[in-house]
Amino acid sequence: MSEKPSLPTGEPLPSRPSAASRDREVASHRFVPQDPRTGLDDGLHGLQPAWQNWSGGQQAMPSAKWSPHDEDELRQQVRNASNVRVVGAGHSFSPLVPTSGAIMSLDRLSGLISHDTQTQQACLWAGTRQFDAGPLLHGIGQAMPNVGDIDRQSLAGVLSTATHGTGITLPCFAADAAALRLVTAQGDVLECSRDHDIDLFRAAAVSLGALGVITQVTLQNVPSFRLRERVHLQPLDQLLPEVDTWIRQHRHFELKIFPHSRIAIVKTSDLTDQMPTEETHGADAEHDAMLKLSCELTRWLPGILGRGVQSMVGPFLHPSDRVNWSYKIFPSKRNVRFNEMEYEVPIAVGAACLDEVCRAISAAKIAVFIPLEFRFVAADDLWLSPFQSASGEPRCSISVHQYYKQDYQPLFAVTEPILRRYGGRPHWGKLHTLDAAELDAMYPDFERFLHLRNELDPGGKFLNPYLRQLFGKDPS
Ligand SMILES: Cc1cc2nc3c(=O)[nH]c(=O)nc-3n(C[C@H](O)[C@H](O)[C@H](O)COP(=O)(O)OP(=O)(O)OC[C@H]3O[C@@H](n4cnc5c(N)ncnc54)[C@H](O)[C@@H]3O)c2cc1C
Repeated sequence: MSEKPSLPTGEPLPSRPSAASRDREVASHRFVPQDPRTGLDDGLHGLQPAWQNWSGGQQAMPSAKWSPHDEDELRQQVRNASNVRVVGAGHSFSPLVPTSGAIMSLDRLSGLISHDTQTQQACLWAGTRQFDAGPLLHGIGQAMPNVGDIDRQSLAGVLSTATHGTGITLPCFAADAAALRLVTAQGDVLECSRDHDIDLFRAAAVSLGALGVITQVTLQNVPSFRLRERVHLQPLDQLLPEVDTWIRQHRHFELKIFPHSRIAIVKTSDLTDQMPTEETHGADAEHDAMLKLSCELTRWLPGILGRGVQSMVGPFLHPSDRVNWSYKIFPSKRNVRFNEMEYEVPIAVGAACLDEVCRAISAAKIAVFIPLEFRFVAADDLWLSPFQSASGEPRCSISVHQYYKQDYQPLFAVTEPILRRYGGRPHWGKLHTLDAAELDAMYPDFERFLHLRNELDPGGKFLNPYLRQLFGKDPS
C-alpha cells in the first residue's frame, strides 16, 4: 500500500474533527450538487439526446439517459433495464460507454457518507467528482495519497479503469480503495472489501462497469498534506541515464517530452510543511493558449514543424516552484482536447522504451505537438489492473496524445508496436488495438474475471459492443 505522509504543521486544517471523535463519523455536511449539474463534461446533461466523451472521439445515441436521485431508484432502473452503461465524467478515450441502450450517470450520487478518523478511511458516493472529493476530504483532515493529471473524473470512473498519478511508491487509484458497494444486474447490492469477499473486491475495483454499478467507495486516505511542486525544462538525453535517481529522490516525478526536440518538462512534487505560496493557476492558462496555437500550427503546417516548433517552447515554459495542499497541487487544467494511447511497461525497460518511442516518432516525422508523458506507478493485486504484479515491480506509463482535430492513427501506429514489444499493458480508458485473446495473455486473472462476470451478469446487461468483444466469450 501507499506511504502515509505525516501531517505537516503550520496552517490549521478547516473543520478538523475533534480528538474525541474516534469512531466512524457520519458526515454532517453531505455535499449536494446542483441539480442538474451544469458545465460538467460527461456529455450526459443538456437537451441533446446524443452522448459524447471528452475528446469527442466516442459518440452514442442512447435510448435513455438516467441520473438516479438515490440508490433505490438506481437499483430499480438497473433491474428493469435490458442494457445499461454507466458513465462517470466521460473522460475515457476508449469506447467503454457508447451503447444504444441506456446511459446512467451517478452525478446525483455525490458526497461524503462517513469517515473514520482513526483508520483515515472515508466512504463517498461513487459519483463524486475528484474536484469535489479533494476539498470534502480536506475538511475532515484527509487526502487521497495521489491524484492524476486532472480532477474532473468521478471516483468510480477513476477506479474502474485503474487511473493513476505518478510516484514509484504510489499505486493506481483503485488500489487505494478499501471497500466497494456494487449494484448487480438483478438490482441487488453486494458489499466487498479487503476483509470481506476479497475476490469480488479484486475483480470489481477495476471492472470497467462490466460487473455492475459501483454506488459507494471507501477510500484508504492519508492525513491532509502539502506538496512542493517544481517544474523545469531539461534535455531528455541528460535525464534518461538518471531516471532511477529522480524516481527515488522524489515522491512524485514525471516527464513531459517533446520527441522532435528531445526536450522534457520535468515535474517533481514532495511533501513539505512550508506554507502555501501564491496560486499560479495563471500558468495553466498561458500554457493552454500556447498549446492550442502550437497544435493548430502543427495541424496546418505539418511539414515545417516537428523539431522547429517543439524547440520554441523554451521561452514559454518558465521554471516554477509552488507549495499548496495536495488536492490543489495535483490537478492541471486540460482545455486543449486530444485523443490518447497509453501503455504501462515494466520499470526495468521503461527508459529504453521511451527513448525508442521518441526516436520512432521523430524518424517518422509525425506531426504532433502535445508532449508524451512518462510516469511511475507502484504494483497492486487487482485482477484487471495493468499494474498487477506478483513480484511487486512498479511499472512506468508512457502515453502519446494527438490533438483532437488531427488523425491519431499515424502516431498510434508508430508507437503501439514498440510499447507492446517492451511488455506494455494498455490503459483501459485509453485507445489501443488489443483483442480479448491478447489481453487474456497479459492478465493471469482474465479468465477468473470472465467467470465472475458471467455469473453476475449472465444476460450481458452491462456489455456494449466493445466490451462484448473483450469480455463476451464463454470462459474456458
Ligand atoms: C484530460 C484527461 C486527463 C487524464 N489524465 C489521466 C491521468 O492522469 N491518469 C490516468 O490514469 N488516466 C487519465 N485519464 C483517463 C481517465 O482518468 C480515465 O479514462 C477515467 O476512467 C475517466 O473517468 P470518468 O469518471 O470520466 O469515467 P468514464 O470515462 O465516464 O468511465 C470510465 C469507466 O468507468 C465505468 N464507470 C463509471 N462510473 C461507474 C460506476 N459508478 N460503477 C461502475 N463503473 C463505472 C464506466 O462504465 C467506464 O467503463 C485522463 C483523461 C483525460 C480526458
